[in-house]
Formats: sequence, C-alpha cells, structure tokens
Amino acid sequence: MTTQIKEVHARPILDSRGNPTLEVEVKLFSGVTGIASVPSGASRGKYEAIELRDNEQEYSGRGVQSAINNVNQIIAPVLVNKNVLNQYLIDRTLIKLDGTPNKSRLGANAILGVSLACARAGADYYGIPLFMYLGGLNACTMPTPMINILNGGVHAGNNLAMQEFMIAPVGAKSFSEALRMGAEVFYSLKTLLIKNGLSTGVGDEGGYSPNLNKNSEAIELIIEAIKEAKYTTNDIKICLDVASSEFYNNGRYFINDYAYTSEEFVNILEGLVNKYPIISIEDGMSQDDWDGWKLLTKKIGNRCQLVGDDLFVTNIFRIRTGIEKNSANSVLIKLNQIGTVSETLEAINYAKSKNYTTIISHRSGETEDTFIADLAVAVNSGLIKTGSLARSERVAKYNRLLKIEEILGIKASYLGLSAFNPK
Ligand code: PGA
Ligand code: ZN
Repeated sequence: MTTQIKEVHARPILDSRGNPTLEVEVKLFSGVTGIASVPSGASRGKYEAIELRDNEQEYSGRGVQSAINNVNQIIAPVLVNKNVLNQYLIDRTLIKLDGTPNKSRLGANAILGVSLACARAGADYYGIPLFMYLGGLNACTMPTPMINILNGGVHAGNNLAMQEFMIAPVGAKSFSEALRMGAEVFYSLKTLLIKNGLSTGVGDEGGYSPNLNKNSEAIELIIEAIKEAKYTTNDIKICLDVASSEFYNNGRYFINDYAYTSEEFVNILEGLVNKYPIISIEDGMSQDDWDGWKLLTKKIGNRCQLVGDDLFVTNIFRIRTGIEKNSANSVLIKLNQIGTVSETLEAINYAKSKNYTTIISHRSGETEDTFIADLAVAVNSGLIKTGSLARSERVAKYNRLLKIEEILGIKASYLGLSAFNPK
C-alpha cells in the first residue's frame, strides 16, 4: 500500500532559543514525505509529559541525541509498514512502545515529532492542506489571535512577574484584519516605549520586555498604545498569562517582595479585571492550588475567561479534575505537553464537550513549523496564542493563518469576542 510508512528519520535542529530539538521525517512508499519539528517550553508545568534531554556536556546538558536515537532505533522499526492514515493506531502504538504514563522512556519530544510528521505525511499524501486533513470540510473558523506584545516572567530579562501581556483584536471582522490591528498597536507600543525612555528589546516570544515597576504599568502602557493606534478598548481587549506557578511557593504568591495568600492573590486579579478591559487570564493560580482556582472561578469566572495551562497540561484526566472542582473555564492546548496528535485532539474534544474553550498554543521555544496554525482551524478552536508580531518563528504561524484564510475564502469565519468564555 502506498500509504504505508517506509522510513522514519529524526535529526537535531535548533529552536528559537538556540537549544537543540528534533526534526522528524516520515517517508511513505508512495514517495511522499511528512516533516515536523518539536517545540519546547521554559515555564513548564510539572505535570507535563517528559521532554528527554541528554544531561551531558554537549549543548550544556540540553542535547536531544537520546531522543533522536529513540526515534531512529526504537520507533522507526516498529512503524515501518504501518498505514500513516491511521493516526490513532500510530499514536497508540507509540504510547504502548513507551509504556510509561508520562512518556519518560522514549521522550515526549521523540514521540511528538513522529506523531506530527505522520499527520503531515497523511495530508501530503492526499495533497490537501493540513487543516483540512485534520478537520475535514467542517474546519472553517479562523482563530481570534491573542497577541503577546509585552513579555515578563521567565521569558524576559526584566522585573515583571507576570509572563504575558496580550491583545485580542475582538472588533475585527476577519483574521487578517485582526492581525493588521494587532500590528498597528505593536508599532504604537514601540513608539510609546521610546518616548518613555524604556527598552524596546524583545523577550522569548517576541513581545517588548521593558523594565517596569508594576504589572499594572504594563497594562496601562498597552491601553495607551491601543488608543494611540486609534482603536478603543472595545475593539481590542487585553489577555494575561500570569504563569503564577513560577512564583508560587508553599501556599504563597511572591510578587515584588510580598508573599500573598491565595485569597489575597485572587483579590488582586479581581481588582485588575474590575479596572481594566481584561477578558482572559491564564494560570492566574498555581498548578497545585486547587482551592485558589475554585475561588478565582467563583469570583470572576462569570465575566472573565480563566485558562488552565500548567493546571491542565493538555491532559484529559487533569481537565476532568478541573471540571469536577469547578475550576477555570478554558484549556490551553500544547501538543508537547501530552505528546501525540490524537491525545491532543481528545483533550480538545473533551474540553469542548464540557463547554470549556480551547486555545491552541505555541511554546516559548519554537521552530519555523506551523502545525499549530492548521490545528487551530482544524478543530475550530476559535482562539490561538502564538506570540508577538516579531521573530520569524512566531510570525510564521500568523502568516500560515493568512494563507489558510485565503484558501477558505468565503467559508472562513471569525468569531472575535464570542470565541471567548464565558459565553
Ligand atoms: P512556555 O510558556 O512555553 O515557556 O511554557 C508558554 C506559556 O506559559 O503559556
Ligand atoms: Zn501559560
């Protein structure tokens, strides 16, 4: 059969931080080849699937040769002659071959590279775009972009505790209009930073990373930039990724030399939502603070999207726990948190069935691979988070979405504000 796998090959490449990662090629007997590469996080959740690193002198311990050997020596012989169109069977085979609950034997990076490359090869075999292969004729919703224009936390060398300050052009009529609006605010923010004598250097996800005294100063600068670009905060809303697991320790949230209790921190977030046009907050509470999550959801879940990233790690079991505990109302989706395409699709379907929104997301360490752009449209997630409008590994995803919007033509829809929870 021409859709059978002939060869699987992994090689090391570098990601956007200069760290090694895997590129995987899956060759079919038909001659078609699917290629994909694997992203990597910095503010990783502790319940994510395990990314295998060599911990040897090369690349300061960050090498991925063992993951590459696992693809070339262990995975490849098992997948040869398998039908690439049966993504679920391939992913189950990979999961079984690994045999651990967190993919720590073969590495989630090894497994994901193969899983992604198989999906690409399937799409290329049919000669159709990846989003159509994954989502069929039903795939037609362009995502509202949550554009990260100001970076803090571990993604920036500045003193802001919160990791991501994003804008969502909800007033746009289409994805391409949203992108243009976002770009115009990005330019006006730069002008404002220069005017205020602040740095215009960018962080890992391409947003500016100026030194500011308070998180609220970052929000106020962005609001000013929105207005300078001749938009209102009805057209463009603000979203945050607090990434609070990074500054949570022993039941306290440490910001600017103060250790807040969960309740105090919930009050701070509530205060921000009351004062500013914030419509989405990710990881407002830590991955281990279920009581904090419950309280936050009770207090502002009826007027703000509350996104679990480190909390859910794209893991169906953790999402189920969150639903049982009335925590959050949205799930961040990162393929490498769970490690296969089909488990990712299962997590998305499950979240949606419980009326949680899903945001398809990049990692802070990215490559030029644009898989997530196609995935966002394939599953009609309505939301994407893929960084700023600078740095090619981020912009590549936006550019791919522009192309998808063109392919979809009049079929393309853009939900704007209604893509967010609460509905
Ligand atoms: P990471 O950050 O890729 O460094 O984990 C992204 C996020 O927290 O959403
Ligand atoms: Zn996050």
